[in-house]
Amino acid sequence: MTTDWDVVVIGAGIAGLTAARVAAERGLRVVAHDRMSPGGQLVNLTALHDFPVPSGPELMTTLTAAAEAAGVRIGYAEVTRVRPGTPVRLETSEGEVTAEVVVVAAGLGPGRLGLPGEEALVGRGISTCAGCDGPLFRGRPVAVVGDDEWTAEEALELAGYASAVTVLVPGSPRWSAERAERLAAVETVEVVTGATVTALRGEGVLSGVAVRTGDAERELAVAGVFPFVGRRGPEGLVDGLPTDEDGRLVPDDEVPGLLVAGDARAGAEQSLAAAEADGRAAGEAAAQALAATAGSLRIVDPTYGLPPEEDDAAVVAGSTATWTDVALFTNSKPNATELLRGLGGRLQAHWELPELGFAAKDNASVPADKDTIDWLSQRFKMVLVAVGD
Ligand SMILES: Cc1cc2nc3c(=O)[nH]c(=O)nc-3n(C[C@H](O)[C@H](O)[C@H](O)COP(=O)(O)OP(=O)(O)OC[C@H]3O[C@@H](n4cnc5c(N)ncnc54)[C@H](O)[C@@H]3O)c2cc1C
Repeated sequence: MTTDWDVVVIGAGIAGLTAARVAAERGLRVVAHDRMSPGGQLVNLTALHDFPVPSGPELMTTLTAAAEAAGVRIGYAEVTRVRPGTPVRLETSEGEVTAEVVVVAAGLGPGRLGLPGEEALVGRGISTCAGCDGPLFRGRPVAVVGDDEWTAEEALELAGYASAVTVLVPGSPRWSAERAERLAAVETVEVVTGATVTALRGEGVLSGVAVRTGDAERELAVAGVFPFVGRRGPEGLVDGLPTDEDGRLVPDDEVPGLLVAGDARAGAEQSLAAAEADGRAAGEAAAQALAATAGSLRIVDPTYGLPPEEDDAAVVAGSTATWTDVALFTNSKPNATELLRGLGGRLQAHWELPELGFAAKDNASVPADKDTIDWLSQRFKMVLVAVGD
């Protein structure tokens, strides 16, 4: 059965865009769907830390352009259900689609305290984006809830606007000593450890929170609360895939055609560098998975008297094809084969290709079968054909 796509990527954040680009560069037909616009978390990050590119929107633009240049289709559908199998079936806001491989790179949901009345106060005092909403709290006190590196950075960013920033850490901080020093150096920032927010105050608009530390409970008057705790993974999205206690997906090799990348993966480090590396690995794994199932094309030694060269990895009698950018196709006539070997070798050196695909008809006098032609045209970016004597 022909699938709609070789690879469907769910989520076009840094992990998804990278996975999609890498898979497309291997010649696969790839769509990356996002229920919002491409970029994911990057859209909100005006300033990036621990990453070479300084701004989220700038990185988002570069990643999207690179994916599209590699041939990725950016889609704007929400994927509501994934049913693993061969093929994988996806229910989306635009109907059902099928794919050989699905990469779930759906990230995490927004931070939440899990308190009654919280959703009604989102945008009315509760925010998860210091860069976007910080200016709204100029000269007013805010609280930040969390314990990781990014909580510290968001608190520092908010300190540029708010009159006071109280950082409520549920247990102990997990941020680096360097970030602890920077926080300590700002007079308007107070870090409270072992703190739990127990209630939200305010009618229609947030006016404060109740905070418990140990046995003591106190009221904190704040105009804004920025929760970076309680972020949940895409639980319930994929049939049969287990999740951890935060709803992040636990990859399982036994589930066919399913890969997980970025923050959505249980155990992910939750940084841009880690999500990018994860995305790259998922793109490679998708290409490998498809190469393994693509064995219908027999790669023959097509030559009359030309011995297969040791270092010409793809020309292996009786082996199956691997994914490459460029394939050579000949009708098995010696001159055509030799011409292709020469051209292919020069292209391989010029583009530093790790290997070349090489296919041939078993017999020069029969037409190439349709499956072979389809396979070549869909899987490779360029097919050099020589059919002369
Ligand atoms: C406040 C904050 C600040 C941070 N600052 C930094 C920093 O300075 N440096 C750093 O290295 N890291 C930082 N991080 C971490 C970093 O942003 C993330 O690790 C990274 O962006 C995760 O990328 P991702 O592609 O896995 O997920 P995301 O960027 O979250 O992308 C997931 C995408 O999937 C889409 N999606 C979800 N479900 C579906 C669905 N069902 N159908 C279709 N689309 C769907 C979403 O719309 C989203 O676009 C920060 C995180 C936070 C919360």
